[in-house]
Amino acid sequence: MAHAWGYAANNGPDKWAANFPIADGPRQSPIDINPGLASYDGALKPLSLKYDPTTCLDILNNGHSFQVTFLDDTDSSVLTGGPISGVYRLKQFHFHWGASDDRGSEHTVAGNKYPAELHLVHWNTKYADFGEAAGKPDGLAVVGVFLQIGNDNASLQKVLDAFGAIKNKGKQTTFKGFDPSSLLPACLDYWTYDGSLTTPPLLESVTWIVCKDPISVSSTQMGKFRSLLFSAEGEPECCMVDNYRPPQPLKGRQVRAFFK
Ligand SMILES: [Zn+2]
Repeated sequence: MAHAWGYAANNGPDKWAANFPIADGPRQSPIDINPGLASYDGALKPLSLKYDPTTCLDILNNGHSFQVTFLDDTDSSVLTGGPISGVYRLKQFHFHWGASDDRGSEHTVAGNKYPAELHLVHWNTKYADFGEAAGKPDGLAVVGVFLQIGNDNASLQKVLDAFGAIKNKGKQTTFKGFDPSSLLPACLDYWTYDGSLTTPPLLESVTWIVCKDPISVSSTQMGKFRSLLFSAEGEPECCMVDNYRPPQPLKGRQVRAFFK
């Protein structure tokens, strides 16, 4: 790869394997979820997401997406239940989205693409910190939530209203008191499978929990996502769009459903 990884023709998902050979590994993400092939598992537990808004710290344009970061030195904002054992702490959430409303999600459902996908990233507290957990097969649990075009989303708007300060790569600003549970769908039915980070280093350490029900986003709000830039200040402006990896081979993995 001539340049750092990204989503352009010369450094995008098709090129990642050159520097990150695990890109062709056995449990890569995202995948296409075929609801007809997912098996109902009565042993799966309901998801429990307990978030403390005072752990919300800041919002950052990292040049690939934007992320909202949380204080994770105590069990204040945690994921338990679902397919996982033990306690996983929220580290950050971020999104992936398209240049237009017909694409943008990483996971697809029966081939259907949503305009965006939210990822809430948690790490297993049996490990010392996020960095250690990210290298373990049971280290991370990411909750994925699809965004579907509909009404304006008031909770999401609070996040979008911070974009003025993070237009360029490397920009960061404080973002206090946000409750990420306000971004969850009312029904927490989910699919789950063993996968990976969807960005380099593509580590195969993620238990994926993909919510069946989308949340709403308006077309105007989707336009706001696309006002961010991949580029740093002073570089040629390059709109942050199509920052998603396409579905990867299932390679024999089973997708389980919490619901019938
Ligand atoms: Zn992601």
